[in-house]
Amino acid sequence: MSQHADLAARAGDLDATSPLSGTRERFLVPEGVIYLDGNSLGALPAAVPDVVQDVVTRQWGQRLIRSWNEFDWWGAPERTGDRIGALVGAAPGQVVVTDSTSVNLFKVFVAAGRMRPGRPVVLTDGGSFPTDLHILSSVARLMDLEVVRVTHEQAAGAIAEHADRLACIAFSQVDYRSGELWDLPGLTRAAHDAGALACWDLCHSAGVHPVGLDEHGVDLAVGCGYKYLNGGPGAPAFLYVAARHQDAFDHPLTGWQGHAAPFAMSPDYAPAHGITRARVGTAPLLSLLGLEAALTAYDGLSMADVRAHSQSLTGFFLECLDGLGLDLPVVTPRDPERRGSQVSLRHPEAYAVVQALIARGVIGDFREPDVVRLGFAPLYLSHADVLASAQHLLEVLRDKEFERPEFAARAAVT
Ligand SMILES: *Cc1c(COP(=O)(O)O)cnc(C)c1O
Repeated sequence: MSQHADLAARAGDLDATSPLSGTRERFLVPEGVIYLDGNSLGALPAAVPDVVQDVVTRQWGQRLIRSWNEFDWWGAPERTGDRIGALVGAAPGQVVVTDSTSVNLFKVFVAAGRMRPGRPVVLTDGGSFPTDLHILSSVARLMDLEVVRVTHEQAAGAIAEHADRLACIAFSQVDYRSGELWDLPGLTRAAHDAGALACWDLCHSAGVHPVGLDEHGVDLAVGCGYKYLNGGPGAPAFLYVAARHQDAFDHPLTGWQGHAAPFAMSPDYAPAHGITRARVGTAPLLSLLGLEAALTAYDGLSMADVRAHSQSLTGFFLECLDGLGLDLPVVTPRDPERRGSQVSLRHPEAYAVVQALIARGVIGDFREPDVVRLGFAPLYLSHADVLASAQHLLEVLRDKEFERPEFAARAAVT
């Protein structure tokens, strides 16, 4: 049998026994597309269009302002937060859906600084997603903090080194570019041993990894609604404050919806009890209710099964690369316990390679400077898709398809 036939047989076996077989029907993925960019914009869950249609035509169009009560629009941020909480290991009452990740990072960093007065150091990852670094450096200017950038390997040592000067660590659980999974339990423990707080960005882990926020004692966390959670373009983000910190969570964006009595219309601010104080202003309800509907794609699934399928997909992709003789440098750790839900490869013409793949219906993305980033969303991808995408990549490289002029020009926005 050829290598390809061997791999096809293995894909068949793996798909037949996967605990997630059948969840693809919960999504409307276009025919002929293998979608490997669910870590940038998740695919459309089948439940969403009808709900959004109902929200627009009936709830807004017919019931108008009465819907705030009739459909509990008011409670949607906490209600949807609890659903996300269940996916990231947080008991109810600790997650709220609100604002964007960038805005929530600002709230969390300022609050963390205020919760650890006299400790001027924040540790972060110099390779972090830019918005995390940009927001943190602005907070540092506002609050006179010192940001120290470390790698994953340096993190534990740096926590010990700064110990009693450390306010918090601010890391992403999964590196957006390399797909490396950071040691959230270990670094959280180390931060606590130093008396510091652990703030985690879950943008690339929420929805594909069980996270275990409560189990590991994470203090504060944020994450994205439109990546693996499939909330749709610009869906609001989420914010987690561990119950034990909620009374002390003093964030800077004191809007009326975080007020203890918003309809008392008081000129003076008094924060609401619980996670509600992390709200700011009126939620984008079309998006928020779309996200709530999207989360039904997880109904009945265990996050342990989701994680197992995700690890199996990324592991099988690496197996396909090896089996088909594709020897691109792999940026992502080969150890499944150190991997998120993506595989990133390096190629000097990475941009053109991605464009050539997209032309074949395999949608991944390019990340500066030379990374082909392929996200494997476990709810709508099979091992057969994985093999097909590896085969397409093989052909793009073998036939030098990426050298075609139409794949060379970089658009302003990718
Ligand atoms: C996607 C992502 C963001 C996005 O932030 P927005 O405010 O939604 O634009 C932030 N941080 C990380 C680590 C991300 O992966």
